[in-house]
Amino acid sequence: MVPEELFSLALGLVPPWLVDHVTFTVEEKRLDLHINFPKGSRFACSVCGEECPVHDTRDHTWRHMDFFQHEAYLHARVPRVKCQEHGVHQISVPWAREGSHFTLLFEALIMTLVREMPVLTVARLVARPTRSCGG
Ligand SMILES: [Zn+2]
Repeated sequence: MVPEELFSLALGLVPPWLVDHVTFTVEEKRLDLHINFPKGSRFACSVCGEECPVHDTRDHTWRHMDFFQHEAYLHARVPRVKCQEHGVHQISVPWAREGSHFTLLFEALIMTLVREMPVLTVARLVARPTRSCGG
């Protein structure tokens, strides 16, 4: 089994979603997981559930939980499907809430941390160390 397959399993992805490739940057301590789907895949219309063809896609990035000391990000082209009945609209992905820049697991982690620690401490834990915060 290759790492991409293991990551697909670890993220609980179900077909047609799969981890396509993984990039790991040692200097930046960063792990990027690129999720994709095979050409010709169909996705359920979010209104009626009918399997519809992909109309177009939009690139999205989500912050995921760190793997050890490495920041992890998920990337995917999120399809908009064309339903004969309901027209063109974006589908929801199984790993994040609509409009969120975080994966569900990352959100769950943050919500658990803020129950136990001051918000500022949590913010420092999850902030990018390279990011300037103006002070
Ligand atoms: Zn529909």
